[in-house]
Amino acid sequence: MSETRPADAEAFPSLTEQQIARIAVFARERDLADGESLWEAGDRNRPLFVVVRGEIEILSGADHMVTVHQPGAFTGDVDLLSGRPVVVRARARGAVRVLELPSARLRSLVQTDSELSEIFLRASILCRLFLMAQGGSNRVLIGSRPSAGTRDLQEFLTRNSQPYGYIDVDRDDAVQATLDKFGLGVEDVPVVICRGNRVLKKPTIEKLAGCLGLNEIKDVAVRDLVIVGAGPAGLSTAVYAASEGLDVLVLEASAPGGQAGSSSRIENYLGFPTGVSGRDLATRALVQAEKFGAELTVARIASRLWCENPLRIDLGAGAAIQARAVVIATGVQYRKPDLPNLAKFEGVGVYYGATPVEAQFCSGEDVIVVGGGNSAGQAAVFLSEAGRSVTIMVRRKGLAESMSRYLIRRIQETPNITLLTETSIVELAGETRLERVTWRDGQGAVKTGDIRHVFMMTGANPNTAWLSNCVTLDEKGFVRTGPDLDAGALAAARWPHARPPLLFETSRPGVFAVGDVRANSVKRVAAAVGEGAVCVQLVHKVLAESVV
Ligand SMILES: Cc1cc2nc3c(=O)[nH]c(=O)nc-3n(C[C@H](O)[C@H](O)[C@H](O)COP(=O)(O)OP(=O)(O)OC[C@H]3O[C@@H](n4cnc5c(N)ncnc54)[C@H](O)[C@@H]3O)c2cc1C
Repeated sequence: MSETRPADAEAFPSLTEQQIARIAVFARERDLADGESLWEAGDRNRPLFVVVRGEIEILSGADHMVTVHQPGAFTGDVDLLSGRPVVVRARARGAVRVLELPSARLRSLVQTDSELSEIFLRASILCRLFLMAQGGSNRVLIGSRPSAGTRDLQEFLTRNSQPYGYIDVDRDDAVQATLDKFGLGVEDVPVVICRGNRVLKKPTIEKLAGCLGLNEIKDVAVRDLVIVGAGPAGLSTAVYAASEGLDVLVLEASAPGGQAGSSSRIENYLGFPTGVSGRDLATRALVQAEKFGAELTVARIASRLWCENPLRIDLGAGAAIQARAVVIATGVQYRKPDLPNLAKFEGVGVYYGATPVEAQFCSGEDVIVVGGGNSAGQAAVFLSEAGRSVTIMVRRKGLAESMSRYLIRRIQETPNITLLTETSIVELAGETRLERVTWRDGQGAVKTGDIRHVFMMTGANPNTAWLSNCVTLDEKGFVRTGPDLDAGALAAARWPHARPPLLFETSRPGVFAVGDVRANSVKRVAAAVGEGAVCVQLVHKVLAESVV
């Protein structure tokens, strides 16, 4: 048992005698004196401890008590499996006896004992969510809400499940005292106090990740597989590849989850009838991949792919990694208009896709669709069935140059669709969700309407600039794979085999592409996850050919 509120009991469960006996086979017994440290914040690869006698205090920040573990309880959150620096510290209370299970043995145990695996994994995730909600840790972000730098760091920390304390220079009177303590002025914000005493002024996310130990890479000469991108497609590939015994490294530019990670609720993913937040899905997938031994590093951008043998990926600043196979899962970047509040309303009034889920939100309400392409036209027609009115806004003088005729005709024939040309949105407003939109029309007039739903259908660009002619792209820059590579494309790419490329294989053997970055992909979470799973079978085939 642990000394916690009932609501926290799930994050800190107790083990039965039988479960403890199964752990004891792989663990050693250790005695600790009152006040002795089990580990300090920032330690890596720490063991799992099960309390046999006495109590263990878990502390965060200066001396904030997170919980007290009593006999039968165990210590651990998501850093236990990843080996990353821990965010809390632990010390013995009274004379303590523990079972100590090294992290390598823990990893083997979770792969063979399904009951313990479920208990540890569930507790790891809930414990991290508990710490995030408490906000107490040895990291503090001092920032200002309107500053983009502050928002970027907050998003990075939150999406990487890193607990932190936040002090706002605009709201907290004591902030200057904190800044003075470190010899800093207000002009230095955002400031991060990292690991209790290191001070980072206006850090980039790479700098912050470095201080938190999130972007390290193990020293391995050539990996079986490097996956670039940790959205649904990359994480799915990692889970299947690592569970099937491949040595896997995942490189992620910002945080696990990709676009899906920015969705507040995914309603159409199989098995989650009440929906699942993108961050929750990503956290679970990451823990699952790490459970099977995949390595993930964040704030690492693949800057160039070299089609050599073995394959090589540059990471900037002279760093590079080598692999026998590479999966490109770098997704797309939705084109976003430059509006100050856009991020605040994404998923709560601003959408980038019009599916039946979004249509339900708009039932009987007024809707704006931004964009003049076919996707905007389809969205407008579709949304006109549920919404009271749909207003299409385009910067151009009309739709003729950018939209198919049949769609233009459908729009003209639909009485509740209005087209505003030479018009653009200038402001989005609302408290917790989008409530009002202001736009400027072709005559320069500025108008505001009570609009709660805006669909940004302005297209998406694939994240493929780093591929540097190594693999064949389509005219929009998406990666062509399998049957999308015709004889001409293969000849131009000097495809070396008698066999055609496998389903998700690019024009370079051993390099695959899955998810939104792939030409003609479906652009759904489930599709990305499915492609990742299928791709691993193909990676095995290519590795067996031993030609890469
Ligand atoms: C707001 C929003 C809501 C959505 N809602 C739904 C929904 O309800 N249902 C649904 O099915 N779909 C939804 N989608 C679509 C869905 O999220 C995508 O289809 C899915 O995320 C695609 O997964 P992916 O892994 O292919 O790419 P992405 O999710 O785009 O992930 C790509 C990852 O690669 C990383 N990356 C890019 N370049 C590099 C590089 N050079 N080096 C290292 N890393 C790199 C990125 O940081 C990113 O994390 C939504 C999308 C958005 C934006």
